[in-house]
Amino acid sequence: MTVRAFSTRVLGGKSLVYDPATELTHLAPQVLASGRCWLDGTQVVAWQPVFQRQVATAVPFNVCWSPLVRCNLECPQCLDDKTVQELRSADRARIARILATSGTLGLDISGGEPLLLRDLTALGRTLRSAGAVVSCTTNGWHLARRAPELVGVFDAIRVSLDGPTAATHDRWRGTGSFGRACEGVRAAVRAGLPVQLHFVVMQSTADGMQQMANLAARLGAGGVTFLQMLPIGDGRALRDTQMLSDAQARTRLDAVTPPPGVRVRLRTREIADAFTVVRADGKVWRNTDQANEISALRRLTRAEDLHLPVPVLQGSTP
Ligand code: SF4
Repeated sequence: MTVRAFSTRVLGGKSLVYDPATELTHLAPQVLASGRCWLDGTQVVAWQPVFQRQVATAVPFNVCWSPLVRCNLECPQCLDDKTVQELRSADRARIARILATSGTLGLDISGGEPLLLRDLTALGRTLRSAGAVVSCTTNGWHLARRAPELVGVFDAIRVSLDGPTAATHDRWRGTGSFGRACEGVRAAVRAGLPVQLHFVVMQSTADGMQQMANLAARLGAGGVTFLQMLPIGDGRALRDTQMLSDAQARTRLDAVTPPPGVRVRLRTREIADAFTVVRADGKVWRNTDQANEISALRRLTRAEDLHLPVPVLQGSTP
């Protein structure tokens, strides 16, 4: 039994449970009290996943907030627009308060590199204050140093890797990145934080998917989310040479045998469509056109600014 924090809420008439590690939302077999709760992860994983467009609600299940664009690494496939103006600390705190009370089940602090933020734990505390579960997506470089202060604030840590070995990862991230990320994962696991590895699937990286699942087992991570590459930001330049179709990526996932205790999942571009992002300048953005594009919507001044106009779709599965 692996008991960890989840967030529950009834939206669109459905009782939902959001997993901060896998980023999946599940249908609960019965109505649960709204808010943060502790559940057996091995049980939740068996509950039917559901994605945003299948539920009639304007409230996003989860939101990714990138309060900064700065990063200590320079990856060519980075999605971030480095020209975005970052807000100051007081404005970050204001954004965190709006997100906390938005009714969203899961909030992820991403970047840039969030572990560069001195106010990261203060922001995390605010985000979780009204019932959401909170995660942090990091390149892992500073994770070993900061893991102890993240305990009790973040419900999951997602560590992004571009390869299962130093040679494959550091080719994209720079020398020493793989070792630092692995050291960070081990430290976070030792501290008791649920850790999920993130791996962007591209033509040049897909051969490493099985090895990535094996690496997760060796490091003590609970699972791997394989992310379809989004041709956004600097990633646009790689669209023609690196992108796999969702069908090709699913075939690659089906060939992976997860080691015991490791869950693997694929986030297709289809699933990433309509995903909501709040950028460092405080503006709400949303993935459109099957996540092949991202569009600015409006400045975030109140929770309703996050609301989705999406219709309910049938048929697709997470
Ligand atoms: S580690 Fe992440 S945020 Fe930093 S440059 Fe690479 S992809 Fe971009």
